[in-house]
Amino acid sequence: MPTTRPKAKRKVARKRLAGLRPAKAAPKLGRTGLSEISEVVRSRAEADAAIAEARKAHDRLREAIDILPQGIVFLDPDGRYILWNKKYSEIYNTSADLFAQGARLEDTLRIGVERGDYPEAAGREEEWIAERLAKLHQPGEAHEQVLADGRCVRIEERLTKDGGVIGLRVDITDLKHREASFRLLFDSNPVPMILCAQDDERIIGVNDAALAHYGYSKIEFEKLSIRDIQAFESVAPWADDRSLDERNARTWKHIKADGSLIDVAIYSRDLMFEDRPAVLLALMDITERKRAEARLAFVAQHDGLTGLPNRILLRQRLEELLTHTRRSGDKLSVLFIDLDGFKTINDTLGHAIGDKLLNAVARRLRSSLREEDAIARLGSDEFAVVQAGCARPEDAALLARRLLDALGEPYLFEGHTVVSGASIGIALSPGDGDDAERLLKNADMALSRAKSEGRGSFSFFEAEMDARAQNRHRIETDLREAIANRSLQPFYQPLVDLKSGRITGVEALARWLHPQRGMISPGEFIPVAEETGLIGTLGNLMLRRACMDAASWPDPVRVAVNLSTLQFRAGNLLSVVMDALKQSGLPPKRLELEITESLLLEKSDDVLATLHALRALGVRISMDDFGTGYSSLSYLRSFPFDKIKIDQSFVRGLALNRDAQAIVRSIVSLGMGLGVTITAEGVETEDELSCLRGEGCHEGQGFLFSKARPNHEIAQLLTAQHRSSERVDAA
Ligand code: C2E
Ligand code: MG
Ligand code: MG
Repeated sequence: MPTTRPKAKRKVARKRLAGLRPAKAAPKLGRTGLSEISEVVRSRAEADAAIAEARKAHDRLREAIDILPQGIVFLDPDGRYILWNKKYSEIYNTSADLFAQGARLEDTLRIGVERGDYPEAAGREEEWIAERLAKLHQPGEAHEQVLADGRCVRIEERLTKDGGVIGLRVDITDLKHREASFRLLFDSNPVPMILCAQDDERIIGVNDAALAHYGYSKIEFEKLSIRDIQAFESVAPWADDRSLDERNARTWKHIKADGSLIDVAIYSRDLMFEDRPAVLLALMDITERKRAEARLAFVAQHDGLTGLPNRILLRQRLEELLTHTRRSGDKLSVLFIDLDGFKTINDTLGHAIGDKLLNAVARRLRSSLREEDAIARLGSDEFAVVQAGCARPEDAALLARRLLDALGEPYLFEGHTVVSGASIGIALSPGDGDDAERLLKNADMALSRAKSEGRGSFSFFEAEMDARAQNRHRIETDLREAIANRSLQPFYQPLVDLKSGRITGVEALARWLHPQRGMISPGEFIPVAEETGLIGTLGNLMLRRACMDAASWPDPVRVAVNLSTLQFRAGNLLSVVMDALKQSGLPPKRLELEITESLLLEKSDDVLATLHALRALGVRISMDDFGTGYSSLSYLRSFPFDKIKIDQSFVRGLALNRDAQAIVRSIVSLGMGLGVTITAEGVETEDELSCLRGEGCHEGQGFLFSKARPNHEIAQLLTAQHRSSERVDAA
């Protein structure tokens, strides 16, 4: 705001200035005389003309300087005002009343200082005036002046040839405001910012946020160059030919005052600072974000329980090793490891112990390997190891043996001694595959073989396993189709009462007539159906068909249907059985369900409840293939079976085998004690039959009586038996 001054003060000032002006010289006439007078008149006229001309030139000059946007002033060598333009008067509006031709700048300054027009002079008036005048007489660099109303003027002065001064004035108030707000924006910005000189990369400015974030003092900072705070990069963020976007997308490692490293994203802008090319850097600390990203990446690639790499990372690592071996000609092996009986340990001792076991296994595996080998946890109790630099199959075998020994050692958890062996499948590269996918698949296949050959062993992959796996795959595809188009159906094999020789029941056995391959045995397709989950549909289909067929046979012949363990897991077995009975109209007492010992191995309450519920319906439950599983007598106590079927392996050659006879005898007496029907499976010869009779076995089933037959044949057989019994009864 321009300050207003009382008029009286101005008048005094003007008077003081008038007194300071040089006195106008009085005109002097030389000698008197006409000639002289005319001479004088002529020269006077010439002088007037010259003066008029000079005045014109002066006016033109004034007009010209008046339109300039800057203030301009001409001073004579004594520092007196000669000429100034409008802008000059406007800039110094509070002092404009003092400007007059011939007035001395020094005097106007002094009056201005007294009146308070120059706040910078307050308290050091004489000194300030002296400095100001010194600048006037040795003009050079531009300098700035603050006026009473807060405006800021930039002053540039030059000496003229005659020793006078031309002064330029620019009102830089706006510029100063902008500078001040920029400073404020910079200083108080919450984002750490650093200003660097472009040429020598020195740090020439830092804001408070940068001081706080990096921990250097302002003085320390300004002794450093941007490269001094970079951990690894030897070029400044702007010193490459990347585009701005590329530069901004990069991250850098910076060193804080305490020596710690941080990750920063840098956003940079080129600008001029105090006439120097500079770069303004805004620094975003992304250390936490990077850490979180790294954590996420770790989680995505590792197993949460053991911290081992997971399948994804293993595959990646294997690909890398394979790329390396392709170049070097080295070999490697992939070992798939599966714990034996893990599920039982988990079920019986609880998940906490199960988890402890898995962690202990991970530790034992890791400590049995070399640095360059890779290890991963693939699934619940499945682990994999990639053995680098495995020159011969024997090396892989040695490692497998070592791992099996390490894992076979007992574990002690919470007072429980846990013993858990493992099985290992091995695939070698090259040979069993030179890509990760194939090697992993083949090692897995070798593992299946190892498991089937007995626990605690290892097995190498063989090409023939692959053929078998492909066959499995074909079976799976065809089986789906067979179930859908009903080319799968039950055949029935009679069960004969050994005393009366009558057929008391038949067992439904799945038969699949393949369009190309002919009859396929259930031994081949039932395991595939179990592996692929098709067993549910297949089992339900068999149950419905068997009940339908049996309902049309003469009473009281029963039908026995085999159930897979997996059908119990589905959870809806009871309703499936009830539906089949309801739809067919078959009385429950004519349905027999055959289960195997493996079902009871699970010791599941759900399974027992389902069995009890089925039995409560009136359905009979048989224990199939007795003697082949874990054969624990406790199974017989856990559920009241209606029938025990002695596996055919005990019946074969029974007449000549005393051990088998002893076993059959004890099973029969056990059955008698429990009031359970004993059926012998796979009876093929008369000798076997008479032996079984001799032991008191109740029922027999086998080729000696009949193989499994299609429904129409069995129906005929049963009808014939029924008629003959009617005839006997009638007789
Ligand atoms: P399993 O339940 O023990 O059935 C008896 C098996 O012994 C049948 O084999 C039968 O054909 C065979 N067999 C009968 N008598 C003799 C004989 O005198 N000598 C010989 N060597 N074998 C005889 P199959 O039909 O091949 O069935 C094999 C197994 O497949 C069955 O054993 C059963 O566990 C399973 N299975 C068959 N059909 C089904 C089904 O519908 N569902 C389920 N879950 N499993 C089924
Ligand atoms: Mg059976
Ligand atoms: Mg059987």
